[in-house]
Amino acid sequence: SMKENAEELRKKDAKYVWHAMKGYTDESHSLIIDSAKGAWVKDTDGKEYLDGMSGLWCVNVGYGREELARAAYEQLTKLPYFPLSHGHNPSILLAEKLNQYLDDDYVFFFSNSGSEANETAFKIVRQYHQQKGDINRHKFISRYRAYHGNTMGALAATGQAQRKYKYEPLSSGFIHVTPPDLYRNPDDEETLSSAEAIDQVMKWELNETIAGVIMEPIITGGGVLMPPDNYLKRVKEICEKHGALMIVDEVICGFGRTGEPFGFMNYGVKPDIITMAKGITSAYMPLAATAVKREIYEAFAGESEYDRFRHVNTYGGSPASCAVALKNIEIMEDEDLFKRSKELGERLLSDLSELKEHPYVGDVRGKGLLLGIELVEDKRTKVPIDSSKVTTIMEACKNKGLLVGKNGDTVTGHNNIIQLSPPLNITEQDYQFIIETLFDSFWLI
Ligand code: PMP
Repeated sequence: SMKENAEELRKKDAKYVWHAMKGYTDESHSLIIDSAKGAWVKDTDGKEYLDGMSGLWCVNVGYGREELARAAYEQLTKLPYFPLSHGHNPSILLAEKLNQYLDDDYVFFFSNSGSEANETAFKIVRQYHQQKGDINRHKFISRYRAYHGNTMGALAATGQAQRKYKYEPLSSGFIHVTPPDLYRNPDDEETLSSAEAIDQVMKWELNETIAGVIMEPIITGGGVLMPPDNYLKRVKEICEKHGALMIVDEVICGFGRTGEPFGFMNYGVKPDIITMAKGITSAYMPLAATAVKREIYEAFAGESEYDRFRHVNTYGGSPASCAVALKNIEIMEDEDLFKRSKELGERLLSDLSELKEHPYVGDVRGKGLLLGIELVEDKRTKVPIDSSKVTTIMEACKNKGLLVGKNGDTVTGHNNIIQLSPPLNITEQDYQFIIETLFDSFWLI
């Protein structure tokens, strides 16, 4: 029977599969998902859940899109693979398509994951400065609380010490600054002190040693930390002043999550380098890209063997992944999902702000369908609430059929920020279900 089958699978799962971020005995809490449609996933017991996290902020067009499966099938039958030291149609068409959103100004290096896209960016930036004869520039500045990936360089850029210290030494040359946190430091909106901190670090680090800065438009993994409106613009100015490049990590914020094709578009900047993954295919296939301004690419134009970017990625930009990405973007355009994300996000933010009447809800924030609800012990001191209370809310949501996420400041261990990032095409019914379920669950604590 289905029940026995589910039991059996659960045992095998516990025995054979090492789950991300789970404790040794946590397996009983994990869901084993069998199928999905729209915003809803179904587990092996047949219970359905609205996926309020789009997987990990990635299934932007929702589950069960046959057009995407068909695009993969057709490409796999036509040409499953060829290395990108040569070329193939889907990668060319995808780079051209992405450039429609980027003023036709970027060249693309393809890879498979957000971590790899960031590693690629770091290597390009370091070599770029060498190509220009600026040989001392090798350091990167990133922010505490940010997540940029799990590999030695991307983890070095990550600003969450708890994820890092057991794996040291990581790549050297990464310096962290305090991120904006408008909930705790609202003056930052005017003073931009969190941006000026970057200017200061560049000065103290002897300026010419700084190769670049990497940042998400909105820090997601560290708790939906919104920047002041002029923060990214100011950071770009600081980078230009000091000769450093600005890398914007759009792994989560890109592809409609924040109500625009890319998150930086909310903040009036044009980065030197843009990294993207997740929503590029709505996670139907692994794919990532590092988009590099043409003028940076041109620094690699010399005739010598040594002028080349010595970096290769076997699967990066594989034909079926690119074909799926193209179809995925077409869906987003046809269904007007960037606009839908913006509108639904504004509505959700306004409806959820009623939660601020709850004794523990300190802040409700976000942009587009990237939302965070911050819980505090005391609204005056803003001390993060005990994680167990957050777990109570999440479990209540789950029992009622809604999956939400949690994160926060991983150093203090307070996972006090509830995350809500549903697919961009949720229905009106889904919307109502999310609101009702959240409201019912919050009032349990
Ligand atoms: N950058 C950001 C902002 C991310 O959130 C993530 C993953 N959640 C990554 C990079 C790494 O992506 P991946 O897991 O595909 O390597």
